[in-house]
Amino acid sequence: MNFGIIGAGPAGIFSALMIKEQNPDNSVTLFDGNQKIGRKLFATGNGRCNITNMKAGPESYYSVKPEDLSPVFNQLGPESIRSYLYELGIPTVQTEDGWVYPQSFSAANVVQILTDTLLHAGAEIHSGARVNRITMSGSKFVLGIDGAGNTKPFDRLILTSGSRAFPQLGANTSILSELFQFGHRDLPFVPALAPINAKGDIFKALQGTRVDADVTVLKGKTELGSSFGNVIFNDYGLNGPGVMNVSHHISDKDAKDYMIRLNFIPGNLKRELDDFFYRHINRDYPYRSIYLSVLPGKLVEFFFKIWKLDWETSCRRIDSRTFRIHLKRLENGLIPVEGNRGFNFAQAAAGGIPLAEVDLQTMQSRKQKGLYFAGEVLDVLGPCGGYNLTWAIATGMVAGQSAAS
Ligand SMILES: Cc1cc2nc3c(=O)[nH]c(=O)nc-3n(C[C@H](O)[C@H](O)[C@H](O)COP(=O)(O)OP(=O)(O)OC[C@H]3O[C@@H](n4cnc5c(N)ncnc54)[C@H](O)[C@@H]3O)c2cc1C
Repeated sequence: MNFGIIGAGPAGIFSALMIKEQNPDNSVTLFDGNQKIGRKLFATGNGRCNITNMKAGPESYYSVKPEDLSPVFNQLGPESIRSYLYELGIPTVQTEDGWVYPQSFSAANVVQILTDTLLHAGAEIHSGARVNRITMSGSKFVLGIDGAGNTKPFDRLILTSGSRAFPQLGANTSILSELFQFGHRDLPFVPALAPINAKGDIFKALQGTRVDADVTVLKGKTELGSSFGNVIFNDYGLNGPGVMNVSHHISDKDAKDYMIRLNFIPGNLKRELDDFFYRHINRDYPYRSIYLSVLPGKLVEFFFKIWKLDWETSCRRIDSRTFRIHLKRLENGLIPVEGNRGFNFAQAAAGGIPLAEVDLQTMQSRKQKGLYFAGEVLDVLGPCGGYNLTWAIATGMVAGQSAAS
């Protein structure tokens, strides 16, 4: 059989590998608008390629009900992805919190090995080939390529064209309008895993500071989403996984209606501060050292200014009530937002082909027989930490396997 794949990112590459594994005689052709395949994969994890996460499962993803994703993860989870990567000659290592990287810590090496494996398996790669049209010839798919006319007909078509995130790396979603002929819709893409623009004295004072915090997006009094993770203060606002994981809740249109709430003392930290303070209450112990035990110095200095306290203040001068007020301030840092930084800075996107239009057991379209989807083109979004590559690889493998079976 003859397979066409639009988009040679991880979803397309892993689909192609599976098609060849099912039957080496299958003919597979990958088309990508970029001059090199796997362009975004090449940039992942700051060049280190955070390729999967041991905690990835249906409940890890936003924008969908967890049970919706079970058909994919019942077939392929992070363990199977790691085993398959090992077979391909990409052994992996995991950090304490489950983030998985190639042993080489090199996204460039991963792209090279995948390209070599595809070519060795006999897949055809057409890079610099943007597909601008899909037409049907009987039950087969014919693709129109920018400046190069029509392709041969394909028995099966796999669409892995990604989202609008990071257009600098070639992201382009114009092909989705070709799917309307089959009755598909595309939900508007929203930038996700992006830094957040915000203004205030705090950014000048804390520039470069990193701290783990609970981050919540509020619109009025409504909590839209929250995440725990590292937050980095910058001249333009906030960055880091804690903030990026909630950035898709902030819409462009009414960006000024949103606030970010930072809790700098989540979980055990509040209890620890409590313990330290009551050990030193009424003593000449520096009050700053209570906070320096768990928080970055710059953040403590900033709050001392807000509390109008001298840096040398001792615990003897602070009563229980004042201490409680200080803890409340640390739990409730409210920051007015000016918007997220948009697609140019977004590592992923929400939106795309609605899941209801795809059978996740096979990744086949419910609208058009022979058409399959995988990866970020679907309306699924994972947090930072290898979850989006997990989704692209897992769905790519399922699509390839079922299209070729
Ligand atoms: C800077 C950055 C860092 C990231 N780091 C991580 C990380 O460490 N871990 C993680 O899990 N995720 C990370 N991500 C997200 C991850 O890269 C994506 O989720 C993943 O690449 C999606 O795979 P995909 O194959 O679905 O789409 P893509 O990788 O976007 O591939 C789609 C391909 O389709 C091609 N295409 C589109 N339209 C056409 C057309 N009409 N004709 C031909 N070709 C077309 C595009 O050129 C593109 O190459 C990162 C993203 C960015 C931008």
